[in-house]
Amino acid sequence: MLSLLRRITQEVTAAQSLPAALDIIVRRVRRAMRAEVCSIYLVDANTKEYVLMATRGLNADVAGLVSLKANEGLVSLVGRRAEPVNLDDAHIHPSFHYLKGSGEERYRSFLGVPIIHHRQVLGVLVVQHEDKRRFDEGEEAFLITLSAQLAGVIAHAEATGAIASLTPNNIPNGSDFRYKGVPGSSGVAIGRGVVVFPPADLDVIPDRYTTEFDAEIQDFYQALEAVRQDIRRASNRISQHLSADEKALFDVYLKILDDNSVAGEVVRKIKEGNWAQGALRQVIKAHINQFNRMDDPYLRERASDLRDLGRRILSHLQEKAPTVIERFSEPSIIIGEELTASMLGEIPIDKIKGLVSVMGSGNSHVAILARAMGIPTVMGALDLPYAQLDKVDLIVDGYLGKIFTHPSEALLENYQQIVDEERLLEEEYETLKDLPCETLDGQRLSLYVNTGLSADIVRSLDRGAEGIGLYRTEVPFMVRDRFPTEAEQVVIYRQQLEGFAPAPVTVRTLDIGGDKALSYFPINEENPFLGWRGIRVTLDHLEIFMAQIRAMIKASAGLHNLKIMLPMISNVAEVEEAMALIRRGYAEVKEEGHDVRMPKVGVMIEIPAAVYQVKELSEMVDFLSVGSNDLTQYLLAVDRNNPRVADLYNSFHPSVLRALLSIVDQVRDEDVGLSVCGEMAGDPMGAILLMAMGYEILSMSSTSLPKVKAVIRNISKQQAQFMLAEVMKLSHAEAVTQTMTRLMREANIERLIRPSKTTEVE
Ligand code: PEP
Ligand code: MG
Repeated sequence: MLSLLRRITQEVTAAQSLPAALDIIVRRVRRAMRAEVCSIYLVDANTKEYVLMATRGLNADVAGLVSLKANEGLVSLVGRRAEPVNLDDAHIHPSFHYLKGSGEERYRSFLGVPIIHHRQVLGVLVVQHEDKRRFDEGEEAFLITLSAQLAGVIAHAEATGAIASLTPNNIPNGSDFRYKGVPGSSGVAIGRGVVVFPPADLDVIPDRYTTEFDAEIQDFYQALEAVRQDIRRASNRISQHLSADEKALFDVYLKILDDNSVAGEVVRKIKEGNWAQGALRQVIKAHINQFNRMDDPYLRERASDLRDLGRRILSHLQEKAPTVIERFSEPSIIIGEELTASMLGEIPIDKIKGLVSVMGSGNSHVAILARAMGIPTVMGALDLPYAQLDKVDLIVDGYLGKIFTHPSEALLENYQQIVDEERLLEEEYETLKDLPCETLDGQRLSLYVNTGLSADIVRSLDRGAEGIGLYRTEVPFMVRDRFPTEAEQVVIYRQQLEGFAPAPVTVRTLDIGGDKALSYFPINEENPFLGWRGIRVTLDHLEIFMAQIRAMIKASAGLHNLKIMLPMISNVAEVEEAMALIRRGYAEVKEEGHDVRMPKVGVMIEIPAAVYQVKELSEMVDFLSVGSNDLTQYLLAVDRNNPRVADLYNSFHPSVLRALLSIVDQVRDEDVGLSVCGEMAGDPMGAILLMAMGYEILSMSSTSLPKVKAVIRNISKQQAQFMLAEVMKLSHAEAVTQTMTRLMREANIERLIRPSKTTEVE
């Protein structure tokens, strides 16, 4: 049964369009269940009716034309209850409703199961028999399992179906296709898409419209010939070690390449308008799917030969592809299946207007970087047909987490107004640059910045930052292809320390693991956020830790503004060990004759265990900084990087607020610095609540800083404390946000946060 399920799912996934996918489902399910009828009904998003979309057994001519109302018939009963309905005689059921023209009158038994994706009923899958015979438990379980597996595929096909065509001209602008994701970085970007993808991976190659057929065909033939030569060379090299049978394998490869069907099909696809890499992906994948469907294991093996050949041709094609710089001639919206922080490092920043990532969520590190750079970003757009968006006009709404493709004039105008309003707000913020961050009743709050790139320094100083509250050292590590040496690190850290001196600069030791990977130090784990991450890695690799500590201390020579911060602390022993090493590093550097002082050392409070030991920790170090990003992730057990659970990730969850308040309460009488450096500190709503709790330093992206300052300068501490008291009574995260929105509107500070139109665009 498992292999049957797998095969049907594979076939449906490979279908080229929604109708093709639905047709495969009804055909394969009817055969697998030996049913007389199999039909699929999908909910029409506008009318909420159940439309008969595909059928085997009923009259297929009416597919797409007939439907059942939202409260009509057994199909809608399945949908409403979101439960299977299994009847031996459907005709005598009170909900039975004959669907005119369908030819359903002959069939008595009925089994319908809902198709549910992300809590939403997309439709109903039905099988029927003429006999009055109830479908047995095994059959019911099979259909439920299949429906659960196919729901995601159907949702995806539904969402992408509209843009199945390759030629941009086929789809007129004005179609306003809309896709939902998760807000990554606020702001609006209007521009053209450029799809980026990691090299040497056939599966992620996007379609790209081209009219340069001859050049693409020539590139393809050259790549093909290069692979042929590679194979001949390999075959000659090892021929004396192989039997005739084994050598024949190479001949099979060459035959596949010479076989005109693969090459001919690729050329045909290029002539239809796809570039060589996209055409290759289409053809190879179609053949692989065909092979995978075969029962003969020998033939199924041919699928892996083809995959291998496809990859080889691709790598020759990619050698000839234009460089990154050539591809980004104008500022564009960068789209990728999984954008990463290191990918961003490869693209000139002035060429990035907006970012869209199919995977990841608002707290992924790429989103944090995007916020630092002020680039509107949408993450977790799971249903976006990203491969078809190269050179397509787009709007990225980073406030609401939406993407529009092929936008209409009206929509463009609407969004242009938001962009204009954003510019006005920016100008208003500009006037605040040299003013202190102080409430109306004189409460002073220090605003620091989070940095990672060297470009952040100028931007942060420009925006009036009073220090660096978090320098993420993993960023310069991520954009290299090997560990930087101690001497190289001294140069990198010195830039930050010098740029801000005499203001304090908090340099965090390497926090890799989780979703922050170094290409040259791969960590493969089942559960990376609960695994080898942050301080756990560096304490296990003293050479990395000591080089970093020594480099930080050396870089601070003569400046004396260094603070060292330790990430992912979950117990006291880690701090003891790290403190001893920092003292050792300091003594070594001092002995070498540098003009240095012992830096202040602090720990991040970002793991629930640290919240409960905050007092002990505060006695060991000079400062504590709350990492609300990870604290939220670990308190709520919600992966900050997973778009499926992004709705559950909420730093305004009452438990998170209580943890944050408890931290301040525990150390109120201690002589220890206390700050927050997670994203919550840069959210105006979060900043108000944190200030009211008693946090005196908030560290955020330079993009958020003016916004937070504007809000704090327009509110009194007393007002903020009233707001805090109100929300601490609430038990739902949504209620906290709603209440804060209302209170901020009443205090007339909502307008400072975002352009007024954002919430109106539907
Ligand atoms: C945090 O977890 O809140 C934090 C600031 O660190 P990072 O986002 O780099 O994990
Ligand atoms: Mg963290």
